[in-house]
Amino acid sequence: MADHSTIEWTQATWNPVTGCDKVSPGCAHCYAETFAERWRGIPGHPYEQGFDLRLWPDRLDLPLRWSRPRLVFVNSMSDIFHERIPFEFVQKIFDVMKRADWHVFQLLTKRHERMAELAQQLEWPSNVWMGVSIENERFATRADALRRVPAAVRFISAEPLLGPLRDLDLAGIHWVIAGGESGPGHRSVDIEWLRDIRDRCEVANIAFFFKQWGGRTSKAGGRVLDGQYWSDMPASVSRQSDLGTLAQTAVQIRNEAVPVTEGRHRTVPQIDSQFDSQSPRTLADKDGRRRTNGGRVQLRGRRGRTVADGSSTR
Ligand code: SF4
Repeated sequence: MADHSTIEWTQATWNPVTGCDKVSPGCAHCYAETFAERWRGIPGHPYEQGFDLRLWPDRLDLPLRWSRPRLVFVNSMSDIFHERIPFEFVQKIFDVMKRADWHVFQLLTKRHERMAELAQQLEWPSNVWMGVSIENERFATRADALRRVPAAVRFISAEPLLGPLRDLDLAGIHWVIAGGESGPGHRSVDIEWLRDIRDRCEVANIAFFFKQWGGRTSKAGGRVLDGQYWSDMPASVSRQSDLGTLAQTAVQIRNEAVPVTEGRHRTVPQIDSQFDSQSPRTLADKDGRRRTNGGRVQLRGRRGRTVADGSSTR
């Protein structure tokens, strides 16, 4: 847990639960397990119990103590809808997210069935984004469960991407993150799988974020795809306009940290918009301008474009 994160699409992590169990092929080289198991048996260490599931009630109020708005990845070391996390504890996490409304919270699960089941009993404030991991077409149905969740932003993490997602239905999805696997035994990602999902996001006006190629380490292969960075973020809610600026800065800093191999380019993501949290289905047009549909309005930040400006950036 940290008030900062090296994960490209977030700014901080908050782990009121740690530990998990594997549920699908994307879990095979779980970074959280590898990290946690390193400390198993060390008395007093937060991961003394390794990757065994553990609730941390004393961490629940942490985001309330962070005064600066952040994008917060919740349970980066677990899965919020793990079957052994009591519903009451999930409710407490949601209550904190609602009260800490100056942050945006990003939830990600592979337990789509429990997510869909509990979603109806939970309150979904506009600062909570819900995502599912989809590593190959066998698990594309997780998106169906996600579509039933009334979150302001629904996103898919196709990382590690282990196969093509040509049949994945992107209706009702606002953001797609894709990337290859990293770490020992990493499985390689095919560029055509990435191009396919990126191009489909383009056509459907869905924000697309290419996180990494993967390899021996998460940074080993960089994150340039077809000569540019793909760093779209979904729109931020109006009262979190400062957060949008923060997110933009964070992505920009990371983009600038690593040289592009092909040419000298800079990606300039712009997160300058807001959306009506009650009606997330309507996206802005290509230029980020307002577009309405049945009285529903949403704005989306403009795609970061590659700019050949002589700077050496990522
Ligand atoms: S669901 Fe996520 S946290 Fe749990 S084992 Fe799989 S990859 Fe790891």
